[in-house]
Amino acid sequence: MCMKNGKRAGKFIRGALFALMQWTWGLPQNLVGAALLPLFRGRRFRYHGALVTVYRGMRKLTDNSGFSLGSFIFIPEAWSDHDKEHVVVHEYGHSVQSLILGPLYLPVVALPSVIWSRRYTKRWKTYRARGIGYTDRFPENDADRLGEAVTGEKPY
Ligand SMILES: [Zn+2]
Repeated sequence: MCMKNGKRAGKFIRGALFALMQWTWGLPQNLVGAALLPLFRGRRFRYHGALVTVYRGMRKLTDNSGFSLGSFIFIPEAWSDHDKEHVVVHEYGHSVQSLILGPLYLPVVALPSVIWSRRYTKRWKTYRARGIGYTDRFPENDADRLGEAVTGEKPY
């Protein structure tokens, strides 16, 4: 077997393991992610085993933002290319949290993340003035760290 085939086989095995784990241990959030897929339209591409959707604006969703549910990552098309490029690394970190925490992902990561995101969006000026960044606390700092460690790319 030549090196190129070996690399391709490695990539395939990692992708298959990623999908298998998300569809078993990470099943609850992966099901929600799969259910949302037809509602969020836009360009889709594979990213380290995850399926990324760059979705067009949703009228019902007042604060369009990036989010991750198992192997499904959603990123708003309206964001700048720079922001999209980096937020995908952060969101992938949440996908890795899904692999680690399994059924605990929704209560331990998703719920606090939604609450914190809403609070931060409303009072970002106050937080900025106090020197508190969005990804300074759990689970956001953990997502940055894991995303960077696994993909080798920068989340910011
Ligand atoms: Zn996050």
